[in-house]
Formats: sequence, C-alpha cells, structure tokens
Amino acid sequence: MSGLGSRKPHFILVPLAAQGHIIPMVDLARLLAERGARVSLVTTPVNAARNKAIINRVDESGLPVHFVELQFPCAEAGLPEGCENMDLLPSSDHIKTFFDALRLLREPLARYVQAQRPRPTCMITDSSCPWAADVARELGMPRFIFHGPSCFVMVSFILMQLHGIYDRITDDFEPILIPGLPQPIEVTKAQAPGFFNLPGWEKLRSEVLQAELTADGVVMNTFEDLEHSFIELYKKVTGKNVCAVGPLSLCNKDLDDRAGRGNKSSIDHHRVQSWLDSRKPKSVLYVNFGSIARLRPCQLIELGCGLEASNQPFIWVIKDVEKTPEADKWLSEGFEERVSTRGLVIKGWAPQMVILSHSAIGGFMTHCGWNSTLEAVSVGVPMVTWPYFADQFLNEKLVVDVLGIGVAIGVKLPIFYFSEDSPPAAKRDDIERAISRLMDKGEEGEEKRKRAEELAEKAVRAMEGAGSSTENIAYLIQYALEHGNNDSEEEEQKA
Ligand code: UDP
Repeated sequence: MSGLGSRKPHFILVPLAAQGHIIPMVDLARLLAERGARVSLVTTPVNAARNKAIINRVDESGLPVHFVELQFPCAEAGLPEGCENMDLLPSSDHIKTFFDALRLLREPLARYVQAQRPRPTCMITDSSCPWAADVARELGMPRFIFHGPSCFVMVSFILMQLHGIYDRITDDFEPILIPGLPQPIEVTKAQAPGFFNLPGWEKLRSEVLQAELTADGVVMNTFEDLEHSFIELYKKVTGKNVCAVGPLSLCNKDLDDRAGRGNKSSIDHHRVQSWLDSRKPKSVLYVNFGSIARLRPCQLIELGCGLEASNQPFIWVIKDVEKTPEADKWLSEGFEERVSTRGLVIKGWAPQMVILSHSAIGGFMTHCGWNSTLEAVSVGVPMVTWPYFADQFLNEKLVVDVLGIGVAIGVKLPIFYFSEDSPPAAKRDDIERAISRLMDKGEEGEEKRKRAEELAEKAVRAMEGAGSSTENIAYLIQYALEHGNNDSEEEEQKA
C-alpha cells in the first residue's frame, strides 16, 4: 500500500431518492471534496435533472464531485415512468414498490464501483438503502451509514425498540414516556413508529438494522452543541461511532448555491429577496412543509384562514400537487387579494435557504422534516411546528420540549405520507394561536427567538475551521485513507 496522504480518498455516496436525502448528501459531497477527497454521488436521470442547478454549481466550482446516473428501473418494478423520487409517487400505495425498485439498483451500483480504477476507498450509504451497503461489504470497502433524521429521533427509536415498546404497547395512541432519555418525553407509538416498522416491511427493516450493525460508523446531519447528550447516548447504546457533520446547509455560502438547492425554484430568488427587503426585520412567517407532505384542499383552506386571521406578514409555499381545482378556486376567489399587501404565495418549489436566511424572517411554520428543522436552527429562526409522519413528531418534541425554540400547533395524529382519507389535522384557530404566540413580539416568542439565535451561533462555529463538524469531515477522510484501498492504479494492476 502506498503511504497515507499520497492519494485522495474516493468516496461513493448513495442517497435515498428523496429530496430530503439527496440535498444534504450533495452538501456532504461538497464538504468532502473541499477537504481533498474525490466524490461520486449516485443518482438517477430524473433526480439529476431535478437537481441540475446545484449539480451545475458544483461542476463550475471545479470540485472533484462526479454525479453518477444509474437507470431507475420503473417499468421493471411496476412503477409509472419517471417515478424516481419519493415525492413523485402518485399515492402512498406506491411506496413499497418504490423501495423494491430501489433495490434493483444494487447490481448496476456494484458494476459501477467495480469498474473504477483506482478502486474507490469508502462508501457512505443512506440507511434506507441497505442494498448499497451490501455492495460495499462484498467489495470489502469501509462503509458509513448516513442517517437522514436527527440523532434524538434515532436514539429514541432504538430505546423504544430495546425496551420492548413496539411489542408491549398495543394501543398506538397510548401516551408513553420514551425510556432511557435524559429527560421525560411523552409520545404515542403512532407518533414515533420506528423505521419501516410496519407489516409487510419486515425484510427491509431487518436489512436496515443489519446494515447499521455492520457499518464502520454513522454520519448524521447535526452538530455536537445541538445534540451532544443524544449523540453520547446513541454511541453508548449502539457502540457506533457518530460523525456529526452539520448543519450541512451552511456549506452553501454563496447566494446562488443556496438558491440552487433541490428542484428548480418556481420564483426568481431576487424577487423573493426584494419582497423580503421591504419588510421589517424578523416580521415574516415562512410556511413550507418540505417535499413530501401534501395538504388536501380542506386543510389548505384551513391553513389559509389561520394565516389570514393572524394578521402577520407571510410567505406561503403551496406545492404543485396541492393546486387542486378546489384549492385554486378558494385561493383566487378573494384570499390572495385580501392578503396581497402582506402575503406572498409561492406555487411550486421555493428557494428555502435564501428565504430562511433573510433578516426579515421571524418564524418558520414547518412539518419538522429534519433538513428544514436544522436549516432553521442554522440561521436562528424559531418555529411553529406541524408534523405529519415518520420522524417529524419526534423532531417537534426536540424543537419544542428540548431546545425550546418552537410553538406546537398541537397536531396529534400522523398522516401517512399523502393519505387521502385522513381528517384535517389542524384547525384555523389553533393555527392562528400558534402563529401569534411566536410572532406577536411577546415575551414567549422573543425568548424562543433568542435561544434559536444562540444555537445558530453555535451551528456556524461547528462548521468553521476548527469546529466539531469540520473535524468530523476530516476524520471521515482520515478513516478512509487508513482503512480503505489506497493502492495506486499501477499497484492495483501489479497485484
Ligand atoms: N426544500 C426547498 N424548497 C421547497 C421545499 C423543500 O428548498 O419548496 C428543501 C428544504 O430546504 C430541505 C428539503 O427540501 O432541504 C426538505 O427536506 P426535509 O427533511 O425538511 O423534509 P422532507 O421533504 O424530507 O419531508
């Protein structure tokens, strides 16, 4: 083997095909490349096209990040053509088929990795893609698992499993204390379901657990000063090394990089900026529920009424899939006109980091997806919380009960992805009340804002030169150099 440092490690990054997983992995790719690694990020044609703006920005920067497009086997798996991302699925019924389709990428991925010369050094694979972990195992490569959610969520799921909550408690709606956490946190099983912990998903669940058990460590988009006690607890209960490398979004220092994350924005980011420039500091509520959660018309109307009644300035992002005839009719028949002097409605994809980091933003109504939550933390914006499913209710607990930087609307029942038959989760009065508590300049909101700003300072420090997250990126590179293949191409040919 050649001496350490004589070669750049080559990382293969495999995100889950969902915007909430691709976006942070692209950021991670940049950070690894900035510290001297070569990176190949595995994606598919539709996902590469959707994330084109940031891919172009990375290309232009000259960083050694290569985007690898594997053909997504829609037809083979029985999915409609083009359904290459979680948020493109026509209904919740397609989720299982989608994960089966992803599994078919295992062979093409193995062929790609095997064909690389010199051989790649290390893989970082999304925890939801255990088939990618198999490829690393077969090729004898060191491998880290990337967890999309917060460390608090991951350790809570593990503790609930270890203490038999999922087996013992039969009532999905019975309030329970999560056993073993440093402070009392109450949830229901419905709000904290664990990953793939559903009938019919046993195989994937056991593969996911096995892939984590056999990994060299885990990478999480969080930072020491935010989740120190949960990171320590996670290490203790799993015996795994945790590399907290976030907030990853902060690697986008340039405005165009921030504007280019994810889908093509449906509004020019300069236009949003000048709208925000005309507002008072910390006066605007930003409302966006990520890439997957979908509001049905009755819920969308309820939210609109709550925003109107709050009398606060706002930016409200409505997804293309939410623009049903019923919703469109309601929006255009009076609502948009009535709020036109203080509300900006964005229909489609919004440049979230551009908006959140503007000084006029004073609050963020969020579904508590982990990326959105951490993005708000990273720029010191407190939150109004409205969780929908998966890890989001626990993230709400972290934001409201642990960190003290959020006001809960009080949603109790999860909506499974974009379920059609669920009752409205939040009423206009509850929405208005939560907005007022955060945005009315009263003591409660100001205290939460101050705490959020303090956390943002710590977040920035974590990502600076000697910060904890920067050091963890350096650790990943060093680990790859020490444990991965580091033979030169000539040495490999001789062997
Ligand atoms: N996002 C965005 N604009 C949008 C919607 C989402 O930039 O209009 C980004 C957001 O900044 C975050 C990601 O998409 O990085 C969503 O991830 P999150 O974990 O918050 O939620 P998910 O979409 O996975 O539910």
